Amino acid sequence: MLIDSYDRVVDYLRVSVTERCNFRCQYCMPEKPFSWVPKENLLSFEELFEFIKIAIDEGVNKIRITGGEPLLREDLDKFLKMIYDYKPDVDLSMTTNAYLLKGTAQRLKDAGLKRINVSIDTLKPEVALAIAGKDVLKNVLAGVEEALRVGLKVKVNMVPMKGMNANEIVDVLEYCKKRDMSIRFIEYMENAHAKADISGMKSPELLELLNARYTFRDEGFDGSSPSHYYTMEDGYKFGIIEPYEDDFCKKCNRIRLTAEGHLIPCLYFDEAMSIAESIKRGDIKGAALVLKEVVRTKPEKNRWGGEEGEVSSRAFYETGG
Ligand code: SAM
Ligand code: SF4
Repeated sequence: MLIDSYDRVVDYLRVSVTERCNFRCQYCMPEKPFSWVPKENLLSFEELFEFIKIAIDEGVNKIRITGGEPLLREDLDKFLKMIYDYKPDVDLSMTTNAYLLKGTAQRLKDAGLKRINVSIDTLKPEVALAIAGKDVLKNVLAGVEEALRVGLKVKVNMVPMKGMNANEIVDVLEYCKKRDMSIRFIEYMENAHAKADISGMKSPELLELLNARYTFRDEGFDGSSPSHYYTMEDGYKFGIIEPYEDDFCKKCNRIRLTAEGHLIPCLYFDEAMSIAESIKRGDIKGAALVLKEVVRTKPEKNRWGGEEGEVSSRAFYETGG
């Protein structure tokens, strides 16, 4: 079992299979980065899988594939199948912008994928264009319908921003509720790569808007999920992710692996250790030692909401959020 210095059990690995993306979301990658990681530096699926096996043997039982946009990487279904075949009861999920999901959902499901999280920030085509830098909404919604049709469990992520999509939180919630998909509102997390003039909404502002329309009760946190949950009178549950609150890190159970093999203990900080060298030389023991060291050095808390003006320099498209 992997246990960090604050007695948190680390059993959740998020694997970013590419930093590349077909969207240019204002809060994540508003412009194409100055340079992409060269293709030759990316770990192959076989190499990523070698590390995943080590992580599973050490106690990881939840794996999320993310990016960038994971569906841009060819043969993703084969990679999922490798993980599924190694340990079918691993909770295998993916976070995607859903743009390419319509043509791939069935294959992913057949490969062993159980759940997906999809980013839906708006239901208005022109707002989707303004947020993602491209006319994406039709494909995204078609992807969601297809995922539901093939039997994938779908959760929705929305990042509410003032003057952009804040007035749509009820509409997006209703869209999800109708389809029995849960929704989590993610507070915008400041980072050096985002567009400078974004004004995110914090939890009290979101709750005020939702309160004007619904009655709900505070359920607090559920297990190690970073979401603060609320239940409506009809039983529908929604969540708010509040990284600026202390509670966000208390039960954190996750570490992140980037497509070039950097193992990252916290979404906020730049610190990381590489497993690439060990994996490429077939040094399983060496890679396991790096894994243990990264878990040992996992910081107690992120620093969102810390020192005035401080922002994370970590790119979400690199870590996978
Ligand atoms: N491309 C996929 C997607 O958009 O779902 C997966 C990668 S994306 C980096 C993962 C999640 O991070 C998305 O739900 C996105 O909304 C969230 N995210 C990215 N930048 C963020 C920011 N600055 N603040 C809050 N959430 C952010
Ligand atoms: Fe791409 Fe996801 Fe980042 Fe949007 S949030 S730019 S879809 S990686």
